[in-house]
Amino acid sequence: MPVFSISRISTYDACPLQYKFAYIDCLKVEAEDTVETFLGRIVHEALEKLYRDKMHEKLLSADELLDFFRRTWEKKWQDSIIIVRNEYTAENYKKMGERYLADYYNRHKPFERGRVLGLETKDQLPLDEPGQYFFHIRIDRLIDMGDGLYEVHDYKTSSQIPKEQELETDEQLAMYALWVKRRFKDFKKARLVWHYLAFDKEMDSFRTPDQLEGLREEILVRIKEIEAAREFPPVVSHLCDWCLYKSVCPMWRHGVELEAMPENEYLNDPGVKLVDEYAKLKSKYDDFRSESEEKLEKIKQALIAFCEREGVSVVFGSENKVTVKEQESLRFPAKNTDERKKLVDILKQVGKWEDVAELDVFALSRALKNREWDEALLEGLKGFGVVEKSYRLTLSRK
Ligand code: SF4
Repeated sequence: MPVFSISRISTYDACPLQYKFAYIDCLKVEAEDTVETFLGRIVHEALEKLYRDKMHEKLLSADELLDFFRRTWEKKWQDSIIIVRNEYTAENYKKMGERYLADYYNRHKPFERGRVLGLETKDQLPLDEPGQYFFHIRIDRLIDMGDGLYEVHDYKTSSQIPKEQELETDEQLAMYALWVKRRFKDFKKARLVWHYLAFDKEMDSFRTPDQLEGLREEILVRIKEIEAAREFPPVVSHLCDWCLYKSVCPMWRHGVELEAMPENEYLNDPGVKLVDEYAKLKSKYDDFRSESEEKLEKIKQALIAFCEREGVSVVFGSENKVTVKEQESLRFPAKNTDERKKLVDILKQVGKWEDVAELDVFALSRALKNREWDEALLEGLKGFGVVEKSYRLTLSRK
């Protein structure tokens, strides 16, 4: 029974291979956290404690809250946690967490907004009738404001703040609100609230019941697309530095292994030797090629000029000869232009399209690869193609 979440869907969107490692292979890796996710988790635990105690008529002081945060941090910290920005230490991140909580405390005390219905509420929202797909629900804080208005609160520890318009289309809290709508009969409206703790800023957005049901359908379509995927290509981006699977990813594994080696061993690595040799030869080859192309073009122009001047078409050398032939070719409007469309329409109208049209094998391969058409059709067409393996080498700076 697949249970999806927005973070699962966004993982697939950002890098299908990371998605495969995390959700299909369920790969276990040594580092299970980055310091950013660890910070987020401990801050969430502290705020949960603050509100849970409040529900039990116990109001923590700011010092008690910070003390809880520090103790939980120390207890759960592990040296395997990745710190990507190595100009900062774990202590820096801990202090950031303390500041987030102190600011939050001062802004929201005495924490009496609405009636708290749930803290870190966990459940699964069925997305379809047969109950095949579910959505993971985890609401940081759910509040009943009365009169059918419910608030879904979310704490963010990221160091980037979104634009207001981005929150209008945010899907995660909206899916949580859909769960609230199904759960409470008096539901009329949801207020989605994000606490950007690093900026001591509260942002919000509203959703109506109709908007929520529409979103469920969109999410279901995307989940089905992910479920149908058969290929999971890696997508290299700046996010790779925060990916827990970097040490097993084919795009990075060799580099990660080299980083762990002493320099003398590193230079003896067969991969390093091959790349260094390849880069050296490729650079020589590229220089030679561009120099030769330039020279060839100059000689070509000189030969054309010679033929025109002397009124000949063949120029003889000591062992070779060059034939210079003038030719004209027709150029037609480029693809995707209005002129091209007009031309195609005329050819179709006069019944000559079949005479000049050719099968676009690149477009066909793309449709098969991306499974863009109906499955039965794709299966039928697949048999016409033969899979040929080829390799392309790209040389770039590390
Ligand atoms: S390291 Fe980058 S390319 Fe590799 S799986 Fe992770 S995100 Fe994808």
